[in-house]
Amino acid sequence: MPTQLPENARCLHCNYLLKGLPENKCPECGHTFDPANTDSFRIDAKRRRLVRLALPPGPLHTRLSLIVAFLLLFESSDPGGAASIPLLTCALYLLSIALLIAYVVRLAASFCFAITDHGRAGTIRKARLAHWRWWLFPVCIAVLASTELTNWPLQIRFKLSHAAFEAEAARYQSSQPSSGVTQSSNSRRIGLYYVDRIIVSDAGPGSRTILFVTTSFFRGAWGFARTANGPGSLPPFTEITDVGLPRPWYASADIRP
Ligand SMILES: [Zn+2]
Repeated sequence: MPTQLPENARCLHCNYLLKGLPENKCPECGHTFDPANTDSFRIDAKRRRLVRLALPPGPLHTRLSLIVAFLLLFESSDPGGAASIPLLTCALYLLSIALLIAYVVRLAASFCFAITDHGRAGTIRKARLAHWRWWLFPVCIAVLASTELTNWPLQIRFKLSHAAFEAEAARYQSSQPSSGVTQSSNSRRIGLYYVDRIIVSDAGPGSRTILFVTTSFFRGAWGFARTANGPGSLPPFTEITDVGLPRPWYASADIRP
């Protein structure tokens, strides 16, 4: 199928209107052009901008999308992830909105271009070559949205740390019962998490709850709870959420008023 020259294409050398010529050669000055290569003829500035805008998202957009998606997934893999660095979370959301706007503008320009020009110009061919770039951003959004259904980054990261947490919990499980709440603040790495402090709460015989705090911010504390007896045996202000961790593990939040 022969490539169609845009309606308003002009000769690069003499600015002759190249519309409807029998061959790809300027009748005024003899300069040849390739309809498939937008660099071999002139189109007006407005149109050229549209052509450029209609290209798939560039490497910067792609890289930033991947980085933002990775950091947001990493944040959700910690019960207090989003709360731990509020400035970073805020920056990530603003960046996501900027990336979305840039993407929508490009997509709209691309549709606009496809509707107004049926020519298979060189830029469109190049755009097709890098077609995967159109898909990367929606895929990032879909992956992030999937964590709203089930927090799989948290589940995977905890699963990989499960044995280490169980081993640590066993030490506190077998220690002498101490009525009330005891805290130990020897921070250390457990599995793939960095645990800030450990809170042991005894609500009665056999109902010991062990809280592993992974994130502290102001008066809030987030982490994991190992509690066989459910919410009844929790220390005050502590809430547990079933996020699909192996029982009897829960995600915990402790936000004091
Ligand atoms: Zn010419």
